[in-house]
Amino acid sequence: MKTVQVKDRSFALLLTAERIRKRVSELALEINKDMEGKNPLFLVMLNGAFMFAADLLKEINVPCEISFIKYDSYRGTKSSGRLNKLIGLKESLRNRCVIVLEDVVDSGLTMSRLFEELKTKKPAELYLATCIFKPEALKSEVKPDYVGFNLPDVFLVGYGLDYEGYGRNLEAIYELKSR
Ligand code: 5GP
Ligand code: MG
Repeated sequence: MKTVQVKDRSFALLLTAERIRKRVSELALEINKDMEGKNPLFLVMLNGAFMFAADLLKEINVPCEISFIKYDSYRGTKSSGRLNKLIGLKESLRNRCVIVLEDVVDSGLTMSRLFEELKTKKPAELYLATCIFKPEALKSEVKPDYVGFNLPDVFLVGYGLDYEGYGRNLEAIYELKSR
């Protein structure tokens, strides 16, 4: 079993780069089909979704706009649930078809708060595409429209996801090994 060390913890390989690539391509196909003629605006949730978004968006072939937004809320290995201000949103969402690209939906608190905020801006349609969904960890009403992988409630690094700032650059996804 391939493992990596990130700072003081070891992580075991869970999803290979190849497997992620295949699944992201399938999602892009689905989104291309659904978004035909809709001129969507993709909102990429920084920092974690940057790699997922880059891979997915390279395969999006409908005319679209892309913008980047951020809440700075995550510390260490547990979701804090405390959320700061939303930054980066300059575009008007009014009557637009909006697709949020997220790395992980865990408790769902981040996305449920974001969606409340985005809905006040009156988009015509609002969708959520997440690379990873952890249904067992869900504590809110969030239902992602596009899911790369359903995973158990484990702590992940790689493919954009960090452990204390490190590991985002890994091309595969790894899970925390219990010590
Ligand atoms: P929430 O609990 O609000 O659904 O998730 C908040 C954020 O925590 C996610 O957007 C993601 O950035 C981060 N997060 C959730 N689960 C994990 C994980 O397993 N590993 C890492 N590195 N970040 C996670
Ligand atoms: Mg995130």
